[in-house]
Amino acid sequence: MNDILMIGNPPITIHLRKNTLAKRYSLRISNKDGKVSLTLPQLSKISEAEAFIREQEGWMRKHLSRQLQPILIKFGERILLDGEKLRISHGTGRTVKVLNGELLVPGSSLQLCGKLKAFYKTLARERFIASSEHYANVFGLKIGSISLRDTRSRWGSCTSDGRLMYSWRLMMAPVRIQNYVSAHEVCHLIEMNHSDAYWALVKSISPNFKSDKQWLKVNGGLLHQYQL
Ligand SMILES: [Zn+2]
Repeated sequence: MNDILMIGNPPITIHLRKNTLAKRYSLRISNKDGKVSLTLPQLSKISEAEAFIREQEGWMRKHLSRQLQPILIKFGERILLDGEKLRISHGTGRTVKVLNGELLVPGSSLQLCGKLKAFYKTLARERFIASSEHYANVFGLKIGSISLRDTRSRWGSCTSDGRLMYSWRLMMAPVRIQNYVSAHEVCHLIEMNHSDAYWALVKSISPNFKSDKQWLKVNGGLLHQYQL
């Protein structure tokens, strides 16, 4: 058996360690350098080890993405908007504009973070009001207030009386992902759980929800890299 396995794209390298005392597989990611290692019983087959790590791929990517280096916001840096990386450049006038692959921000470096954050929040408010109302209409529902947060633990949430919360960082993700999160929250207004019935509702208004969900699992950490 090789002592290294690679899975997925971009590939994750997994260091294998056979251990006579090990009774089951155990996967570890070093907090220091992100090295992934799998301890496995002496008599395991490579195919079993592969199947095991494939099941854990989502978990591994989530953990690895948390170890991304923070990106400091400054002019000349690139930042995600709707899934595209745009260069932050000096703008004129009063508002932030998107033009030819650039995000044009007026004002000084000192104002940059504040202005960008306000830009993402304003955009998020417009988009999430539109998408939430759109999906709510499909079910003949009315939505309550919409608020924006910056939470690490969840991309959206809702209350039984129809108040919806979204992370404004989702504006960095592709639009289809933003829509998926809206569909996800609006469906909770009918089913306040993650039952099969709930996922059937999500599928009815967001047919590609599985790949969108996976996108967030794999890439969600990227949205938190930016020090805004
Ligand atoms: Zn949910």
